[in-house]
Amino acid sequence: MICATPAVVLRTFDFRETSKIAVFFTRDFGKVKGVLKGIRRDPRKFGSSLPVLSLNHIIFYKKRHSEIHLIGQCDLLDDFQIRGDDLESFSYAHFCAELLDVIMPLEDPHPGVFGLVLDFLNAIKKPPQDMRSVFMIKILSLSGFKPHFDACLSCQSRLSGEAFFSLKKGGLLCRKCLAADFSATSVLPGAVASILYMERSSWADCLRLKLMPGVRRQLEEVLHCFLHYHVGRSLKTRPKIHDLLEFLSSKA
Ligand SMILES: [Zn+2]
Repeated sequence: MICATPAVVLRTFDFRETSKIAVFFTRDFGKVKGVLKGIRRDPRKFGSSLPVLSLNHIIFYKKRHSEIHLIGQCDLLDDFQIRGDDLESFSYAHFCAELLDVIMPLEDPHPGVFGLVLDFLNAIKKPPQDMRSVFMIKILSLSGFKPHFDACLSCQSRLSGEAFFSLKKGGLLCRKCLAADFSATSVLPGAVASILYMERSSWADCLRLKLMPGVRRQLEEVLHCFLHYHVGRSLKTRPKIHDLLEFLSSKA
């Protein structure tokens, strides 16, 4: 079967002598893996050099018995000016690509998540400080992880104000249920309120939000712990981005 779709590049790796395998997140087929035969011998064979998070139009031949399909055509539509010398947007791009790769299943289309990725890309040249957290919250809600940050994991009662994050259980507990995990740590009410606001507000409204530094740190911590709990590992790009943002803010 021949398929055509817009596709964002998540990662690539060399394959055999002259080819590459690319992992795309496509609008119409979800995450797709494909081989670009001969691209290393003749880079002009394809209309894209496959930069991370670039938007391409791909045509691929779907194989029935393999998860690696044959990419016939790959043409660059937009690279969103993500360059290695712009460390901020470059690291945001790698963060977004890794997150998509980790949480989106193969060949399960999700146009809502694809639209979210385009929103992220359209803001990547001047990313608001909390864009990564907003993106994480939106993608976790859309992709079926359904984080329940509005209720206690144990007794389901609504959390208003005080809450404790349980790494062991991957969510929030109320004070009455602390016995379920004595190692749960207190979370600032502002962090819980921000998560709830970001879950229900539009992308544009979320990006206008200005968080206090303490709330921002805790929000990131809670989201990464949640992700770690559900996918079994942390993002490799996370410590690098953290160091980079510290460095950039120390120069500002
Ligand atoms: Zn409870």
